Amino acid sequence: MGSRDLNKEQLLSSLEEVADPRVISAMSHVPRELFLPEPLQSRAYDDTPLPIGRGQTISAPHMVAIMCTILDLQPGMNVLEVGGGSGYHAAVMAELVRPGGQVYSVERIAGLVEAARLNLARAGVENVTVIQSDGSLGLPEHAPYDRISVAATAPSIPEQLKQQLKIEGRMVIPVGEDYQELYLVTRKNGFFAERKMGVIFVPLIGEEGFRERN
Ligand code: SAM
Repeated sequence: MGSRDLNKEQLLSSLEEVADPRVISAMSHVPRELFLPEPLQSRAYDDTPLPIGRGQTISAPHMVAIMCTILDLQPGMNVLEVGGGSGYHAAVMAELVRPGGQVYSVERIAGLVEAARLNLARAGVENVTVIQSDGSLGLPEHAPYDRISVAATAPSIPEQLKQQLKIEGRMVIPVGEDYQELYLVTRKNGFFAERKMGVIFVPLIGEEGFRERN
């Protein structure tokens, strides 16, 4: 076994404390190194966020594992991801909704959209569509969604995202600026928001997000 395989094994077993076994199995099928710039590929199985260019990061594996576990993704689901970044988190969700499920991943930065599409193609992921737009407004053309995963922190839970959830749908979203918390939002006869944990994410920049700082 090479050192990268060993690191991967160690990382996956460390996730057993925080993640569902189905999520860990999905993560074992997605090569994180293919979603990183070449000089960082040797660090693919460090449990840390890493830079992917344009001031953005790929989320830490434990955060991907926790968010996927909270969402309870199942085969056949229609999923929206806001903040596609490298495409890694979308690839893990895509594995969890196979067969029959689809992930729409929205990213605002054009260069990252192109890179994510390339990364996903190299990893052989076929059920993710990456779209460049302001995900704080959701993606109405493919709504409603069974699940929405937001990977950038919002000032408050965007109304448009709530409205694009199916009844019984779930959304995970970090909220806050200096101090952020991860929320699970569930839609039933109304919307229920449950605080899960403190987190650190880059800002959601957009109409229902923060303003871009120059
Ligand atoms: N999930 C990603 C991965 O696996 O690589 C990491 C996402 S990174 C922490 C957050 C991303 O959200 C950044 O790429 C950033 O450009 C993007 N973002 C910020 N505001 C956005 C918006 N309004 N719409 C879409 N993407 C946005």
